[in-house]
Parts: sequence; C-alpha cells; structure tokens
Amino acid sequence: MVDYIGVERIQALMARVGVARLLTGLAKEIEADFLRWSQFEKSARHAIHSNVGVIELMPTADGKLYSFKYVNGHPKNTAEGLLTVTAFGVLADVNTGYPLLLSEMTYATALRTAATSALAARTLARPSCRSMALIGNGAQSEFQAIAFHAMLGIRELRVHDTDPRATDKLMRNLRAQRLPGLHIVRCDSAAAAARGADIVTTVTADKRNAVILTPDSIEPGMHVNALGGDCPGKTELHADILRRADARVFVEFEPQARIEGEIQQVEPGLAVTELSAVLTGRARGRITAQDVTIFDSVGFALEDFATLRYLYRLNREQGGVRPRIDLVPELADPKDLFSGRQAMAQRARA
Ligand code: NAD
Repeated sequence: MVDYIGVERIQALMARVGVARLLTGLAKEIEADFLRWSQFEKSARHAIHSNVGVIELMPTADGKLYSFKYVNGHPKNTAEGLLTVTAFGVLADVNTGYPLLLSEMTYATALRTAATSALAARTLARPSCRSMALIGNGAQSEFQAIAFHAMLGIRELRVHDTDPRATDKLMRNLRAQRLPGLHIVRCDSAAAAARGADIVTTVTADKRNAVILTPDSIEPGMHVNALGGDCPGKTELHADILRRADARVFVEFEPQARIEGEIQQVEPGLAVTELSAVLTGRARGRITAQDVTIFDSVGFALEDFATLRYLYRLNREQGGVRPRIDLVPELADPKDLFSGRQAMAQRARA
C-alpha cells in the first residue's frame, strides 16, 4: 500500500501545523537538499506545449529516493473557473522502484515555491529588507506573503494585480491570518507597487513576453523575485533589467532556466549563478548593498523532491498513515500477477 495525501489531507496539515510553520520547515528541507546538489540527478523538465498552456514532468533522484511531479500551466484557465497551475507527484524508493507516496501537489507547489523564494531572498537580499511588492495576486500570492513575513520579517506589502478582485481576495485572506505587524498597501500599478520596495515579487500569469517590470522600476539594492516567467515565450521582466551593470542574476538549474526563465530573452553569454553555489559557498551572492539581485525562478525538481519527502514524514508524524491506496498489487507470489488480479476482482465482488 502507498501513502496518499489528497487535497483534504494537505489542507488539514496546513491547518494543524500552520502555514507559516510549514513553510519555514519546508524551506529548511529544501535548503538541505540544495546543499547536497551534486548528489542529485538533474535534468531540465520535460514540457509539452499547446497554444494555451503546458504540461510538464519533473523527475529527480538522489540514489535513495526518486520523485517526479506532473504540473500544468494554463493562464487562461481562471477565466473558466479553473486553476492556472495544478500538480500531483510521487516519491519512490530507488532500491525497489516502489512508490512510497502519491500526493496532490497543487498546494504543495504553492508551498514549495514560496519556501524556495523566501530561502533565495534570505540568501540574496539585503538583511534589512522590510517591504515587498507583490505583483500578481492569484493562487500563489498568499503563500509568498506568509513566507516572506515569517522568514524575512517583511512588514509592508505593496500589492497589485490587473484584476482588482484578485487583490481584494489576497487582502481579505491575509487580514484573516492576522500576521503580526503586517501593513498592506494597495497600489494601482506594478510601478507604484515596486516604488521604494526592498523586494519585488512578480507572480503573474500570462502566456506571452509580458513586461511587468520596466528598467525604470528597479532601484539600487532591490531584490527581484521573478516567478511567473517559467516557459518559453512567457516572461515578466524587461530584458534590459537583466543586462544592468549592477544586476546579478541567480537561477535554480541553469540548463532549465536558459530555456524557461527570464534569461531566455538575453544572450546566452550573460553570466548567471546557481542558488546552490551560493548556499554551498562556491559563489558569492550579493556583493554590495547597491547590487540588484534577481532570482529568476522557474521551479526545479529538487524543490518538489524535498517537499514530497517532507510531506511523507509530516503526514506520518501527524497520524496520517490512513488512507493508503492500492497503487501496486501485493501478491503472495510476485510472479503470479494473473491470479492476483482474480483475487482482487473476487474481493471487489464480495
Ligand atoms: P493565477 O492565475 O492564480 O494568478 C496570476 C495573477 O496574475 C492573476 O490574478 C492575474 O490577474 C495576474 N496578472 C496577469 N497579468 C498581470 C499583469 N500584467 N499585472 C499584474 N497582474 C497580472 O496563477 P498562480 O497560480 O498564482 O501562478 C502565477 C504564475 O506563477 C504563473 O505564471 C505560474 O506559471 C507561475 N509559477 C511559477 C512557479 C515557480 O516555481 N517559479 C511556481 C508556481 C507558479
């Protein structure tokens, strides 16, 4: 039998543990895996594109455990009452190839994206950062706000979305969370939100080379957490932001970022640094307080691996060994799959 975390169960875990605590624990787990970067089998994700979206598979393994995530990205979906991003994933034992956990990953992706963003910002942004612009107030946004409040001490949140109902929803949800000391400022443009902010998070969904931030919105010392550009032809930053002399660009896994990230817009020679290199001390992060640090995030399989392993453990610690699901046959004779099938059919009839 295989452990199972469905939507109800992950909602229950978030309610029981608390989203901020869960995000903080998850960020530690993700950081621990970034620190042993060389142990992972890494590849750019496998993407199948259509005119309206993408479906991607994201596998990785560390010799002991294997994981993959199925994830889609369909910006037009919300107009039809559907999520832009949905996902599920599997954690498996490399030794037997047997799956250990099947989990929903729509919530888990929002959690891991926020935990990774905050981890990157804690590593790259100025330690004194207290204000953040949050541009794009859809499904990911609350998770980002809570992670940056808990992990970086963000106390002013400057929010903007082209859809005012998304901003209404974000403000309502964050107020209900009663995050200590958090002051939310509603802004009528992305430029107004970015003005004076220490950190700018862009998490919009639009299947085109959008320009959410223009070069004149960038101020010395800013940290840009660019999340929404994560597919060929789907970006958020004006390319000249990446080319600024004072800009330092950080990515998760360079071969994937070159295909999907903001850096797809610039010449391949533009230098970037992988986050793992900074975390392990092999490369420098921010060098001066005036540097503009840019985390060009597209989401990498290692973050999902860490998340699945964290959820597998948390679910069991929180008494969640049931329900398990019969994803793999359990047979008295492993060579007798055939009558195992009959036995299962008989049980189903009984
Ligand atoms: P969503 O559709 O729920 O929300 C996106 C929001 O962006 C919407 O409210 C929309 O109105 C707003 N928006 C679109 N264009 C805008 C503009 N020009 N200015 C301001 N707001 C604008 O989507 P979501 O689940 O919140 O995901 C947001 C983006 O993040 C998607 O593009 C998704 O692919 C990406 N994403 C990245 C990662 C990662 O690891 N980097 C992980 C998850 C999602």
